[in-house]
Amino acid sequence: MSHNDLEQLRTQLDNINLQLLELINKRAETVQQIGQIKYKQGMKVFDPIREREMLNQLVEHNNGPFDNKTIEHLFKEIFKACLELQEVDHRKALLVSRKKKPEDTIIDIKGEKIGNGKTHFVMGPCAVESYEQVAEVAKAVKQKGIKLLRGGAFKPRTSPYDFQGLGLEGLQILRQIADEYDLAVVSEIVNPAHIENAIEYVDVIQIGARNMQNFELLKAAGDVDKPVLLKRGLSATISEFINAAEYIFSRGNGNIILCERGIRTYEKATRNTLDISAVPILKQETHLPVMVDVTHSTGRRDLLVPMAKAALAVGADGVMAEVHPDPAVALSDSAQQMDIQTFNDFMDELDRYVISHS
Ligand code: PEP
Ligand code: MN
Repeated sequence: MSHNDLEQLRTQLDNINLQLLELINKRAETVQQIGQIKYKQGMKVFDPIREREMLNQLVEHNNGPFDNKTIEHLFKEIFKACLELQEVDHRKALLVSRKKKPEDTIIDIKGEKIGNGKTHFVMGPCAVESYEQVAEVAKAVKQKGIKLLRGGAFKPRTSPYDFQGLGLEGLQILRQIADEYDLAVVSEIVNPAHIENAIEYVDVIQIGARNMQNFELLKAAGDVDKPVLLKRGLSATISEFINAAEYIFSRGNGNIILCERGIRTYEKATRNTLDISAVPILKQETHLPVMVDVTHSTGRRDLLVPMAKAALAVGADGVMAEVHPDPAVALSDSAQQMDIQTFNDFMDELDRYVISHS
């Protein structure tokens, strides 16, 4: 073979490459057109039966030198790339995304408009322990002009031997006190079957970190007309968190508040690591209000004020923290709940911060 022959074959190869390139792109364009039609008809883009038929047809016409397996493999790659193209064209923007809805969602909870650009607080004990305990906190909360009273009636505890909460009785206590002080109740529900009963007593259904991916619970919360405060899972990515909110939204309940509550890392100085960057990311990616729970994210009373300031500085719509008349004897989270005096100081400090930065 002369040098000239080699050159000629190389030129031929270059031309074949260019022809293949053109054909592959032509195929891609045709696939995109099919994708448009399927999208309009609500059909799935991937059709395994059709793909099998196309592969069979190619194998039938295959005269070599490639064997059938290789042909199948090569075309499968082309099919896959074309399919990806269809999916990119029609990737549905999530309902909770800014892409879908650029304006901020504002959630009205008994006149408190979460997401309106003002700072909102959710305060109350970790767990409802008694009427007197909640009432004392509610009084202090009310005095500070706060509307949202929290308290756990169903407590998801790490140990089954720890206080599990008062259950329905706890919700009844919260409701009674909230009505007496004209407050709104935020309380965690852990069981999809409890939702229907619970909505009589709560103004906001809280879904806790441990249940962020309890999809049946998310669906049940999505089926009712009651705002939901969804907390980020202990080791959930931001994308998983957003998808959890999408579960609720996609069932028809768009009143969702996202709550960053710290994630599990190797750091032991704090109970969890407050992922402060999650706040602006969630604000950018979704149209939902975002709050920060400074109690569970830090597990340290001395960090509540600085972390709350950080949350507000990065654009959080609200701050959650736990308050107990006598934290030392609290049945849960005694190390980090604020007593009433500490709570008053916390609020004074934050009010000053908000005023000086507005
Ligand atoms: C709570 O807020 O009461 C609680 C249990 O928090 P988390 O689900 O974030 O641990
Ligand atoms: Mn707690």
